Amino acid sequence: MGTEDGKIHAMFLPYMAPGHMMPMVDAARLLAAAAGTKVTIIVTAMNALRIKNAIDGDVQSGHQISLEILSFPGAQVGLPEGCENMISTPTPEMSMKLFHAIELLQPNIEKLFREYHPNCIISDSLFPWTLDAANDLGIPRIAFNGSGFFNLCVTDSIIRYQPHKNVKSETEAFVVPGLPDEVKLTSSQVPDIYRTRTTFSELFDKLKESERNSFGVLMNSFYELEPAYADHCKKVMGIKTWHIGPVSLYNRDTDDKGERGDKASVSKYACLSWLDCKKPKSVLYICFGSLTRFSKNQTTEIAYALEASGYSFMWVVGKVLKTDDSDCKKQQQELPEGFEDKMKENGQGLIITGWAPQVLILDHPAIGGFLTHCGWNSILEGVSAGVPFITWPIFAEQFFNEKLVTQVLNFGVAVGNEVWKAWATEESPSITNRDDILKAIDAVMGNTGEATEMRRRAKRLGELAKRAIEEGNSSYNDMKNLIEDIRMYKSGTSG
Ligand code: UDP
Repeated sequence: MGTEDGKIHAMFLPYMAPGHMMPMVDAARLLAAAAGTKVTIIVTAMNALRIKNAIDGDVQSGHQISLEILSFPGAQVGLPEGCENMISTPTPEMSMKLFHAIELLQPNIEKLFREYHPNCIISDSLFPWTLDAANDLGIPRIAFNGSGFFNLCVTDSIIRYQPHKNVKSETEAFVVPGLPDEVKLTSSQVPDIYRTRTTFSELFDKLKESERNSFGVLMNSFYELEPAYADHCKKVMGIKTWHIGPVSLYNRDTDDKGERGDKASVSKYACLSWLDCKKPKSVLYICFGSLTRFSKNQTTEIAYALEASGYSFMWVVGKVLKTDDSDCKKQQQELPEGFEDKMKENGQGLIITGWAPQVLILDHPAIGGFLTHCGWNSILEGVSAGVPFITWPIFAEQFFNEKLVTQVLNFGVAVGNEVWKAWATEESPSITNRDDILKAIDAVMGNTGEATEMRRRAKRLGELAKRAIEEGNSSYNDMKNLIEDIRMYKSGTSG
């Protein structure tokens, strides 16, 4: 079993969505860079294209890392060719098809596990069945939970105590019980999966169960960001974890940062030279992750607020995909007519249509604030860059993550979205209006005492993040612990 040369062989199985794949690929590359390890990442053909350059570079540097490429059964469920990732699904119906096509991969992946017989499986939590696969082979299964300790703790409390069921209305705030800090939520911000049985409830139950029964959970976080919650996971919830993040920080050179996750739709030099012309901390960066789709009305409100603010901005749009011919081709998210040209001419804003080199942009000294949807990767990337946030959560666990920023660490302000909704494209009365957006922009980018204090806190967190991954510090040490734990399991002295 494993490798003949005594190395530890880990197989990584990421889920096919950027927010899942990117940190797992970073983690896999990190593990492969350590002494005495060998890594295989299981991907499908289109997804392999997103990461191939980075992996080729690692191989040239002498790391033992390779891709195992599966063909994708998209045609079996009626998906167009090349649609192999959640980023390419413009409608809920197509997302469901993709979800089912991913399920069809299970037998082929199990076959790969049997053929390779690695020393451990590091699997996205969304594949709960990998626990049985690992047990059959007598090897540890490690769950990769794409979010942070805070989310694990809030989720545990919501499931355990159901506090959202004891309020009179959707908008009445309640305190999440049993946490190290006073954290307040409303039931309208709680993901639908905890409020009612949905199509995904069964999967979610299994996911939580296999997370509990795994060898442990690999966390893309660092101890100093959420120490009380890392301790709570261990002591109160009884989960073994390794915190090795922020994994995005291991992309150290411009090429790695510029191509992380996909080929950028804009030249990295064009982005950087635009930012080079701006004063330090003067530009607001806006991105809603890889999956959010907004209505035209909402996009218009953002555009007006940005222009009225007078601040320079870089805005990533272009998440709306063509549906009329079931094509996966991107089209530009609808902006008010003439807006892009006007912003280009007066130099106030740069609009990026499609994939942006986010880590590269955030790290530029001109960036002074981040308007984010609070996806966990974006949170960590903004934290690592040491910038204050404007929070605009939309779905998944993003409202929980928001509270870590605005109620616990206090380095950002909320734009005020109160309603969890998986598909933000539907027109709805809960649209966030331009005045609220403008107010939040001023609060973060302005020069009030509060803004200065938020900037100070954000800068401090950025320093802690960078320190955590250096030799001898918390994330570096936990990576070593992870390798040691797998090695001990292999030699039969653990688990
Ligand atoms: N991202 C990027 N360019 C884009 C959009 C997203 O590099 O144009 C990256 C971003 O840096 C982050 C990931 O995609 O690493 C998105 O993950 P996150 O957890 O923030 O949100 P999700 O997309 O899962 O909602």
